[in-house]
Amino acid sequence: MTQSFSWQRAVLKVGSALIAPDGNQCSARYLLAIAHFITASRAAGKQVIVVSSGSVAAGKKQVPVTHSPTIAEKQAMAAIGQMQMMANWQRLFDIPCAQVLLTAADLQHRQRYINIQATLRELLAHGALPIVNENDTVAVDELKVGDNDNLAAHIALVSQADTLIICSDIDGLYTADPRQHTDAKFIESVATIDASVYALAGGPGTKVGTGGMRTKLQAAEKCTQSGIQTFIVNGQNPAVFDKLLEEQRAGTYFTPSQSPARARTAWLTHTLVAQGTLHIDKGAFQAISTLHTSLLPAGITAVSGQFKAGDAVTIEYNGKPVAKGLTQYGSKDLLTLMGLHSSQISQALGYHQGDEVIHRDNLANFAQGV
Ligand code: GLU
Repeated sequence: MTQSFSWQRAVLKVGSALIAPDGNQCSARYLLAIAHFITASRAAGKQVIVVSSGSVAAGKKQVPVTHSPTIAEKQAMAAIGQMQMMANWQRLFDIPCAQVLLTAADLQHRQRYINIQATLRELLAHGALPIVNENDTVAVDELKVGDNDNLAAHIALVSQADTLIICSDIDGLYTADPRQHTDAKFIESVATIDASVYALAGGPGTKVGTGGMRTKLQAAEKCTQSGIQTFIVNGQNPAVFDKLLEEQRAGTYFTPSQSPARARTAWLTHTLVAQGTLHIDKGAFQAISTLHTSLLPAGITAVSGQFKAGDAVTIEYNGKPVAKGLTQYGSKDLLTLMGLHSSQISQALGYHQGDEVIHRDNLANFAQGV
């Protein structure tokens, strides 16, 4: 029996085999069904972020080599192919497609992390379709996420998605590689991703597991631990997208270990170490604790400690810690901003990182209970 699920914001990972099925240029062959899924989901009020591979495959034709390509040659392929890949997506939509290119280093850098988050939020708010890829032209191996399955998991986390859908070229996870073992059984759902599940993908240390299954499991593990339900589906099968549109599960479903909000609150509260404290007035306390709003500069009465934008800080009211969150401004700037109206930020600092000091998505109220 098919089981239902619900979702609001999904990251959809589309691999090179779907973008450039012949290995050397982009094609709409498999993307029509995917584009229809995205358009219909958006019409139903849901949000989708695409993580798209295919830049290297799409640019291969223009950088013909007979040997195995050097890094620079691959980067040239990516630079050419990225344009074609984006153009290929754009012709399937009336809404603007927005190119977001990043590397592992960008995700590790706190300030850039919150910039990525703010940009994705803004793109979705303006009805654009963010299409993310690794910035292959600048990234060398040490700076790379390396594969777009794991990149998609990072994007699901940074964008606070509730769902990750990884489009593969097989139906999902099997007990063995179905291309080699005719008796391989399909696995409909996985409750916990442990060593026995990794063993199905070829076991640890295998470079390319069952249909590249290993990196997909890593992505699923990252996401489910943070409350994000994950699917591995066959992106070549349009029926999959019809099912997902009806909120019926398709492919292999990986159960999230807890709700995304709870996972995020736990991460903010327990994992991150506060680098300083923001003291707030009664109005701000009421706003964040009962109305669950963002924290604005106007409500801040004092700043203690030294911290940078992107750091975790404790929020205190009346001498008691009441919340914790990720600040968009560092302590030095907050000493200037405290008590000011958000409209005065640009003038006071000469730049504007957002109206909020802590966006409500990055705020965990202690009163809510963890
Ligand atoms: N970023 C690579 C590309 O666009 C793909 C990496 C992957 O598919 O895992 O060609």
